[in-house]
Amino acid sequence: MEVACRASPELVRDYFRLFVNRRAYTLQSLRPHPESGRHYYYRPKAKGSEKPVSLTNDTIRRHLEGELTLGLYAINPATQRCRWLAIDADYKGAMEDLVKLQYYLSEDQVQAALEMSKRGGHLWVFLQAPLLARECRTYVYDLASRLGLPVKGAGLAEGIEVFPKHDELRRDEFGNAIRGPLGIHRGANRRYWFYGANYDLEEQMAYLNRLRKVTEEELRRFIAGKSMPAGFRSQRPPERTAVRCVEAGRPEFRILDHVGKIRKVGRNYVTRCPSCAEAGHDRSGDNLAIRMDDPRFYKCWAGCTKEMIREAVGCPIRMRQSA
Ligand SMILES: [Zn+2]
Repeated sequence: MEVACRASPELVRDYFRLFVNRRAYTLQSLRPHPESGRHYYYRPKAKGSEKPVSLTNDTIRRHLEGELTLGLYAINPATQRCRWLAIDADYKGAMEDLVKLQYYLSEDQVQAALEMSKRGGHLWVFLQAPLLARECRTYVYDLASRLGLPVKGAGLAEGIEVFPKHDELRRDEFGNAIRGPLGIHRGANRRYWFYGANYDLEEQMAYLNRLRKVTEEELRRFIAGKSMPAGFRSQRPPERTAVRCVEAGRPEFRILDHVGKIRKVGRNYVTRCPSCAEAGHDRSGDNLAIRMDDPRFYKCWAGCTKEMIREAVGCPIRMRQSA
């Protein structure tokens, strides 16, 4: 068990400034899913309503004090910019690759912070002001491809994953969230620290504050004449375009328009859950059950909510939201 610790208002303020680029966020469920045992992330809603709640200082304090665990979105779709980029690696040999990346980033005077994770690590780069997601991604993908690092998604099941995962988002999209650093991971029931400082909240934050932040001028210089290596231009699964959702005359959402290969099992169609798939899960393609007699009813056995599934297929359930 982690010992409780207090997060001062200054700590909360610094965390907000470093990590928060939009007020939408996710929470890691406190209880494991009864079947998979995993602690899934969901977008919290106000009690008794469908209205998503916005991230506040108090929520960050509770995250830092270990009472809840946040997930943070990289891109603010109002600007297409991000405040940080994070490289997630959790395969065998992941740490060597992250340390290599950290070294080559330092050759550009980019000070990246390495954080432990459950199976590998996250490498964080902080920006002086929010910068275009597309340009940040071009920089990291170009560097990774020059170093020959495995990149997940480009025909590889294992490799680094770059947050932001998209160049741009539509206004109603969220992209992918990553576990907020310095909180307690519910599955592991422990905190994962940055290697660069003592394992203490104040010292960790002081370390992050000290790191040089990348400026727009630097980033533009790093990527001058470069483009996204082929194969990485769009991380959005091509078959899941949002066009069908906004097509005139289509009165309701039909899940069957948005899934891959289906099988018939009993009274259900069974297929890969789009939300699980986005996280690289459900390789066996049987988490999502869709009722044959009424496909408006579908359920992911791994615990993805309807909202998560709709979001994953690019047809989020309409609701008012804060950017
Ligand atoms: Zn699922």
